[in-house]
Amino acid sequence: MGFWKFFTAVLILNLFWSKPTSSISLSTTELSEIPTKFLSYAKKPEIVNLMVDARRRIHENPEVAFEEFETSKLIRNELDKMGIEYKHPIAVTGVVGMVGTGEPPFVAIRADMDALPMQESVEWEHKSKVPGKMHACGHDAHVAMLLGAARILQDHRQELKGTVVLIFQPAEEGAGGAKKMVEDGILKNIDAIFGLHVSVDLPIGSVASRPGALLAGSGLFEAIISGKGGHAAIPQHTIDPILAASSVIVSLQHLISREADPLDSQVVTVGKFQGGGAFNVIPDYVTIGGTFRAFSTESFMQLKKRIEEVIKAQAAVQRCNATVDFYPDNKIFFPVTTNNKVLHTHFENVAGDMLGIDNVQGMQPLMGSEDFSFYSDVTPGCFFFLGMANETRGKLASLHSPYFTINEDVLPYGAALHASVATRYLLEFESKSHISD
Ligand SMILES: [Zn+2]
Ligand SMILES: [Zn+2]
Repeated sequence: MGFWKFFTAVLILNLFWSKPTSSISLSTTELSEIPTKFLSYAKKPEIVNLMVDARRRIHENPEVAFEEFETSKLIRNELDKMGIEYKHPIAVTGVVGMVGTGEPPFVAIRADMDALPMQESVEWEHKSKVPGKMHACGHDAHVAMLLGAARILQDHRQELKGTVVLIFQPAEEGAGGAKKMVEDGILKNIDAIFGLHVSVDLPIGSVASRPGALLAGSGLFEAIISGKGGHAAIPQHTIDPILAASSVIVSLQHLISREADPLDSQVVTVGKFQGGGAFNVIPDYVTIGGTFRAFSTESFMQLKKRIEEVIKAQAAVQRCNATVDFYPDNKIFFPVTTNNKVLHTHFENVAGDMLGIDNVQGMQPLMGSEDFSFYSDVTPGCFFFLGMANETRGKLASLHSPYFTINEDVLPYGAALHASVATRYLLEFESKSHISD
């Protein structure tokens, strides 16, 4: 064979080899049937019971950030029963399971496990048995759905063209469990990651998301503004930190109204103001604290820089000193949760095939934040909201309310969506290069 003939033969072979596997193995119709097939499978009594039972047991025994020991044990027991291998412990209580070939590509689906330090006010059979702790953000349901997905995937493992990684992470509520999972290396080799959160506003059987920035980046700040205390009737012998703190708070609001682009949404809120205890005493110092949010890293870092400058400079105007701490109680910054455009389209296609395209909604970005952002910051990701509202049963209480309840009808939808986005991903994408924006 002459050189050019050989060259052409290699080129043609390469063209075949670089085609996505889906075009070889499954037709578009076959692909589009996977989500409905998985939803019917998830609605089988056996799978529903598995999820409802796990969710209720977790709900009765809520555990807060990095203390999810029993929850973690429950998850491992269920994975053992299914014959799914996993790694543990990761980030204290985290569990990472694997279903499929054990070979690339690797696609991850994620659930958070932690409860909130608050008292449940709902009177029902499976009410929290731990005073002052409650699953009021639906993370008990998130774990149950991922267990349901694990079961669906394991029962269909011959159809997986790669590996699905099941991420059960601790400490979503402010402590950054996802950050620790990433630091422990779980995203190594992972090509894409998907996550969901239950929504009390969206109707059951519907989902919502958007490409690009979905949830804000957020940070906290706490400042101590020090003056010189003394008698309230002799202000000239004091340096009043209450007046200084008041000026600081007013000036902080000007960062949003006068410095930020009105079309680039940002928030600064001072939610904590502590100082003084007597009517006739000017205190030595005042503590203020708050949160700030933005939809880009640049805006976020600019806001952080200016918050510190304004607090220190405005305190100085009133002869006070100020120190600013951006990591109070070891809390951390949450990056912006950004959905990869290609993965978002993939999610819309899969959810549309399952629920009908009318039940796949777009949405505006939200000022809330999610530690899923630690994953989507370093690996292409897509996060979406899953509806559980059912008008005929009345309005659901909001997330983090002591009256929060889960409509358990949502569990099969979550499980089937997790399993479908992952399975279809492995069939439709070969490598990371296909999903760069
Ligand atoms: Zn929450
Ligand atoms: Zn949550």
